[in-house]
Amino acid sequence: MRLTFLGTGTSQGVPLLACSCRVCTSADPRDRRFRSSVWIEDPPLSIVIDTSPDFRSQALRAGIPRLDAVLYTHSHADHIAGFDDLRTYSVKNGNRIPIYADPFTLSRLEKAFDYAFNVRERSPAYVCPEPHPITGPFSIGPLTFTPLPVPHGTITTTGFRMDHHGQPRVAYLPDCAAVPGTIRDLIRQIPVLVIDGLREEPHPTHLTIAQAIEISQDVRAAQTWLTHLTHQTLHAERDATLPPPIRLAYDSLQLSL
Ligand SMILES: [Zn+2]
Ligand SMILES: [Zn+2]
Ligand SMILES: [Zn+2]
Repeated sequence: MRLTFLGTGTSQGVPLLACSCRVCTSADPRDRRFRSSVWIEDPPLSIVIDTSPDFRSQALRAGIPRLDAVLYTHSHADHIAGFDDLRTYSVKNGNRIPIYADPFTLSRLEKAFDYAFNVRERSPAYVCPEPHPITGPFSIGPLTFTPLPVPHGTITTTGFRMDHHGQPRVAYLPDCAAVPGTIRDLIRQIPVLVIDGLREEPHPTHLTIAQAIEISQDVRAAQTWLTHLTHQTLHAERDATLPPPIRLAYDSLQLSL
């Protein structure tokens, strides 16, 4: 099983448009961040979590050949705007693409992409989403996904704990302002934690790097990767000062799980 970071940036990406700060002009490829998304492979199974505005470029760069399903964490534009580029994968599957999202996120997707969800009016050669409302743990092939609802401003983000043949392997929590105790209990001693580490300064809807470190240490994750990073974080500088085993994720990083 393998996880590829398709993007590790915050909603505007890094570099930020029209910004000439030291991170936005850095020559280090780890300072170039597409919007946050991951690709999970357990051959032949292939799944992405979120379709960012950069999804087309991300899929080209990673060489995603096919997709069995798409999972959504929440309906903010930086997580859903690439939906339309699922067309190729939908056609390859015989005009269907299973979409897993909590009922609220699904309702927002249906609103934003009504032409695709309207089964009476859509063209079969277009994106043909097959909605799967998430109401509890669900399985796709050998993988079981346990939803991890976490607060994200006025909405809830659905993170996921992924178990392979019943063994917890990784938890993905990209956009959250806190991780409640009940959710921490679901990810204790997780081998790999991927979590929001927006920036140093407090933010109303995201974790700071210090808050992410506290959560990682509290749940005793064997390995932690921070994601959804801003242009305030210079990879080489900040990564070197994190307490092991906590690291900054970067685009195209691949983890064997
Ligand atoms: Zn986001
Ligand atoms: Zn900048
Ligand atoms: Zn968000």
